[in-house]
Amino acid sequence: MSKCPKCEMTISRFRMERIKAQESGSALLWNCLAYNCPHCGTVVSMQIDPILVRDEIVAEVKASLSRQ
Ligand SMILES: [Zn+2]
Repeated sequence: MSKCPKCEMTISRFRMERIKAQESGSALLWNCLAYNCPHCGTVVSMQIDPILVRDEIVAEVKASLSRQ
């Protein structure tokens, strides 16, 4: 079983939260997901939101095809 690195409680499911990430020196904001411990709220992991990335790629491809 997975355990939280801070409170050491067993984690059977994360609490997911949408959060923005900003690269140092850049104004660009990335849509991300944080996976938090449901007991203490510690961020255990984070990644770029794959669903939003997929939607942005699909929209970009559709826009590109419509310009042809
Ligand atoms: Zn915890």
